[in-house]
Amino acid sequence: MNDITRYQPVNLANFEKLPQFARVPADIVRDIRVVGSVLPFKSNNYVVERLINWDDIPNDPMFQLTFPQRRMLSEAHYEAVAACLDRGASPEELRGVVNEIRLELNPHPAGQLEHNVPIVDGERMRGMQHKYDETVLFFPSQGQTCHAYCTYCFRWAQFVGMSDLKFASREAHRLAAYLVDNPQVSDVLFTGGDPMVMRSKLIAAYVDALLEANPPNLRTIRFGTKALAYWPQRFTSDADAEALLDVFSRIIASGRQVALMGHFNHVVECSTPEVRAAVKAIRSRGVNIRTQSPVVAHINDDSAMWAEMWRTQTQMGMIPYYMFLARDTGPQDYFKVPLWRAHRIFTTAYRHTSGLCRTVRGPSMSTTPGKIAVDGVATINGEKVFVLHFVQARDPEWVNRPFFAKFTKDACWLDDLEPAFGESEFFFEARLRDLLDQDDLEAERLSAEA
Ligand SMILES: *Cc1c(COP(=O)(O)O)cnc(C)c1O
Ligand code: SF4
Repeated sequence: MNDITRYQPVNLANFEKLPQFARVPADIVRDIRVVGSVLPFKSNNYVVERLINWDDIPNDPMFQLTFPQRRMLSEAHYEAVAACLDRGASPEELRGVVNEIRLELNPHPAGQLEHNVPIVDGERMRGMQHKYDETVLFFPSQGQTCHAYCTYCFRWAQFVGMSDLKFASREAHRLAAYLVDNPQVSDVLFTGGDPMVMRSKLIAAYVDALLEANPPNLRTIRFGTKALAYWPQRFTSDADAEALLDVFSRIIASGRQVALMGHFNHVVECSTPEVRAAVKAIRSRGVNIRTQSPVVAHINDDSAMWAEMWRTQTQMGMIPYYMFLARDTGPQDYFKVPLWRAHRIFTTAYRHTSGLCRTVRGPSMSTTPGKIAVDGVATINGEKVFVLHFVQARDPEWVNRPFFAKFTKDACWLDDLEPAFGESEFFFEARLRDLLDQDDLEAERLSAEA
């Protein structure tokens, strides 16, 4: 495990063999076994050797970020699984109990999977999502996993990898055709999971197909990735690191911009020699790195940490971009941060950074109608309200228009909010219903034809 030039996953089957676990109390080991049987668990040798502070277990943020924690499950769920393990239940029995719990946790984020799937020649384009005019999301099927799993992540239902080069180029050609047909699109965002878990050959197959089609409207290719934080060697010492940097160079040579959307939860992740070398290597090819992260309890609900993270990133030549609110699914109770607190963390941090760090936006929730930022809490005509605005919206007319919700201390997500000033619904709701109905009708029509 000490050799961090070769990637090695840490998981339920092998974590107890880590030398670091010799000092970890038995009840914490048991919690990992129990909770890790239900929620996906993967860390790796770099995270373990470089990022986790083993003198501060269980509170260390990086430990909280990749190792399952007892309170991520309800007491009843925890006891049910623990009882199975204690009595040495058969694998089938354990699987039954675990599957039941997983169904109850319902990991499907509302409106994300069914909606916004583009249609070409009457066929729904799986692996693509087009919600905001300018940007198409592309989920290469081989990129639906990560170098480690964040404990708060809601994507675990879709973590299944597969497939080959031929499939990749077929998918990429469909994406290119879609871009040619949709001149309003300027950005493609490769996302996952983490597209950087793919070998460079495969990433090249996707990108080169796009560059070959050369859609004149395509200005920027983005890659959403957590690899800078979880496996920066992807960009430096991995066998095909150079080939990946060459892909970036080819995009830039075509006259386009490459933006790496680096997901960092904590300043620790920006602090190792490995990540510094990776940032340097990427930037040397002319690639811009923008950074984003959700604000999550037990991991980074601390304004001083955010300020230091944004300063460090800016110093390294990265551009702070978004602070997100964690989605309301999965083990949300353990990780949730109320809106008013998220806003306070953001604002306190923002106030103590130079203007160069203030490219960051947020705190923002990615909801069915769009990305909604919490601008603050105000009292208007005696009513205490949240002031909100859309940073991105399903209907561009909604963007940058202030709107108001009744203040409540417990609200963590749009679903918890009600319109202020006695209004019966938010200004966007009627139109949103129309848009979703259209989408449903189209989907129904296609499945009826199929
Ligand atoms: C965040 C997001 C984008 C990109 O939005 P930007 O503000 O341009 O970064 C695109 N599509 C979806 C569905 C998103 O959630
Ligand atoms: S890196 Fe992103 S997709 Fe992967 S586990 Fe973390 S939050 Fe989920």
